[in-house]
Amino acid sequence: MGAMRILIVEDELKVATALQEGLEGEGFDATVAHTGEDAFFRLSTEVFDVILLDLTLPGRDGLQILKAFRGRGVQTPVLVITARDTLDDRLTGLDSGADDYLVKPFAFPELLARIRVLLRRGRAGEPAKMTLADLSLDMVTRKVTRGERPLDLTLREFDLLAYLLRHAGQLVSRGMLARDVWKEEARATPLDNVIDVHMTRLRRKVDGDAATRLIHTVRGVGFVLREGPP
Ligand code: CA
Repeated sequence: MGAMRILIVEDELKVATALQEGLEGEGFDATVAHTGEDAFFRLSTEVFDVILLDLTLPGRDGLQILKAFRGRGVQTPVLVITARDTLDDRLTGLDSGADDYLVKPFAFPELLARIRVLLRRGRAGEPAKMTLADLSLDMVTRKVTRGERPLDLTLREFDLLAYLLRHAGQLVSRGMLARDVWKEEARATPLDNVIDVHMTRLRRKVDGDAATRLIHTVRGVGFVLREGPP
C-alpha cells in the first residue's frame, strides 16, 4: 500500500508549507490546496485519506466548504483546524460534518496523533450502512437496494460497489480498483478489461432503468459514483 494521502486546505503559504513538510517527514503524501475551490478540484480528481481544513479561508469559509464536501458525498475524515476566536458552536455541533478539530496553536505531535486516530477510524470504524441517493449498501447483512429494489450482486460486484461508495464523489481509477479491490499490485492491461466487464455488469444492476444514473465513466481515467452529472 502506498503512503497515506493528506489534503491540507490552508491559504497561508507559510503554515501550509510547514504542515506539508512536517507530514511528508512522517512519511505521508501531503498535498496543499490554498482555497476551497482548489480543494474541490483536488477532490474531484484524486483520493485522500484525511483532509486538514483550516477554517479561515478567503471566500467561502471552512465550514461552508465542509458542508459542500459532505453534500457531494465526500466521506473522507476531516480534521478542522481553527483559531480559538473562530471556534464556534456550529463546529462542535454534531452536524458540521467534521470528524475532529484542533485549536491553534497546536503542537505538531498532537496533530499527528489526531491524524492517526482518524486514519484508524477511517478503516476500522467504517459505517455498516453506506448510502448515496436511493442506493443503500449494508456491509454486515450484505444487502444492497436501489430504492425499493433489492440488487443481486456477485461478491466482486459487492466489493466494487462498496469501494465506490467509500469514495463517493471522488474519481476512482482502474489502478486503484486493481490495487484495492483486486489486490493486484502490478497492474496489467488484461486486468483493465476485467475491471471494465465487472463495472459494466454492476452498472446494469445499479442504474438499469433508474431515472438517475449513479455510476459514471470518466473517459480514459476511471469512474465516479455520484448523483447527477460526473
Ligand atoms: Ca487560514
